[in-house]
Amino acid sequence: MPARKCRLPITASCVAGKWQRSLYSEGTPRAAAKPKSTRRGARMPNIKPEDIPADNACIPGPTRRIFLQRSAVGLAAAVATGSAWAEAPASATENAVKLPLIQDPKTEQAEETPDPNSSPDDRVGYAIVGLGRLSMDQILPALSACKYSRVAALVSGDRDKARKVARQYGLRETDVFDYQNFERLADNPRVHVVYIVLPNGMHKEYTVRAAQIGKHVLCEKPMATSAADCQAMIDACRQANRKLMIAYRSQYEPMDRMIVKMVRQGKLGPLREFIAGNSQNVGDPSQWRLKKALAGGGALPDIGLYTLNAARFLSGEEPVEVMATTTKPDNDPRFKEVEESVHFVLRFPSGFTATCMASYGSHESRFFRLQGPQGWAGMDPAFGYNGLRLQHGALVDGKNAVTEITIDPNNQFAREIDHMSQCVINNTTPHTPGEEGLQDQRIMEAIYESARTGAAVKIARPSGVWRGPDPSEETF
Ligand code: NAD
Repeated sequence: MPARKCRLPITASCVAGKWQRSLYSEGTPRAAAKPKSTRRGARMPNIKPEDIPADNACIPGPTRRIFLQRSAVGLAAAVATGSAWAEAPASATENAVKLPLIQDPKTEQAEETPDPNSSPDDRVGYAIVGLGRLSMDQILPALSACKYSRVAALVSGDRDKARKVARQYGLRETDVFDYQNFERLADNPRVHVVYIVLPNGMHKEYTVRAAQIGKHVLCEKPMATSAADCQAMIDACRQANRKLMIAYRSQYEPMDRMIVKMVRQGKLGPLREFIAGNSQNVGDPSQWRLKKALAGGGALPDIGLYTLNAARFLSGEEPVEVMATTTKPDNDPRFKEVEESVHFVLRFPSGFTATCMASYGSHESRFFRLQGPQGWAGMDPAFGYNGLRLQHGALVDGKNAVTEITIDPNNQFAREIDHMSQCVINNTTPHTPGEEGLQDQRIMEAIYESARTGAAVKIARPSGVWRGPDPSEETF
């Protein structure tokens, strides 16, 4: 079988510059240019602190001006107090740098020097709650690569560690909070979104607390440990008129998005099967991932969720029934409270099926394949932070060919976070709102019920809308 390579260069530079257009050219009367009031040295608008709404955390589209004004007030206040904040960098226009092209623009993709897009003052500010492995190794570094987002505060139970991290990321001591004084984030106008990166069993409490102090919420997956908690999170954010997004990073990852497009364009034909696995061999039996109250379950909610969510978002269909089994070895101290592995088969209305497995007891292995009569698309490795590989199998010139599609490496966390920021800036619904997390939780509960009873369990179609508009192409 001949293997072909197809390289699709998608680079960060493709998207640079569009930020300005999308942010300031929304077809509104103030479309023409960035308001002068945010430029360094420009005259500040005559805004008094009392002009800022009590709801000082949001930047919905219609009140974009308020956000800019607030930035100006913050800057003015900083000048008055002589803080480091006063030294905020200049605006995008002043910082933009143009380099001469060295390649022929008639045959080569245009090269652009990424510009700062906006002064950091204009970016959406995030409070990172929980400074564990994901925050330290992925999210904080990704925020540095974001175009619309920046870290604005840290929340941690370990003040010493948080102060060190704050110094690393140029934050002030006053930007460090703990779980007890969490509500004081309300007084920090630089924090617009609270990003919850805590053990699963704590997601509900911190989402509700964040909404109650007027902050938008980006919450790690799985959304919570019960459908009831998911609903309470949705209700709290709705009541507070705040956005809630669940951090399903694969739904913002370009290779996964490419498969979504292939499916929509009918490149695989009507879908028949999805097969997926996600495994890793866990260690330390005392870790929270193996405690039912904090994790909600074992391999299923942590890593099996990737296969479940991929079956849904890649196909664009919702399952109506599941048959499942779990394993929990008696003699392994790691699996006293939660399952080691899960296998489940989802049945969809069109006849499409998804066969998925996840294990906490097998060596790292992550893959999927989506099949139809016209071809297949698959990733191996799949679901990881990087090193992903995408293949497409189809008939080419009368031969069964496999094409490997490579895309320039990208930071999927940065794309995911920037999507949330765009939703806040433009007042749009996140692609993966709370309802998307609730639907996965309902299905996971059906999976556990099937494993417990040994019978197939019906899954009701979610009511209402569970996914927002596709992420903007400009960030891919
Ligand atoms: P971690 O154990 O490395 O970090 C958890 C943090 O929570 C630590 O800083 C810990 O001190 C803090 N914490 C506060 N109260 C705690 C308590 N009672 N028990 C234990 N820890 C407590 O975990 P992590 O890998 O960073 O995972 C955090 C969240 O992120 C989880 O919801 C997980 O499912 C999710 N996650 C998502 C991805 C992804 O790719 N999207 C990857 C890994 C983890």
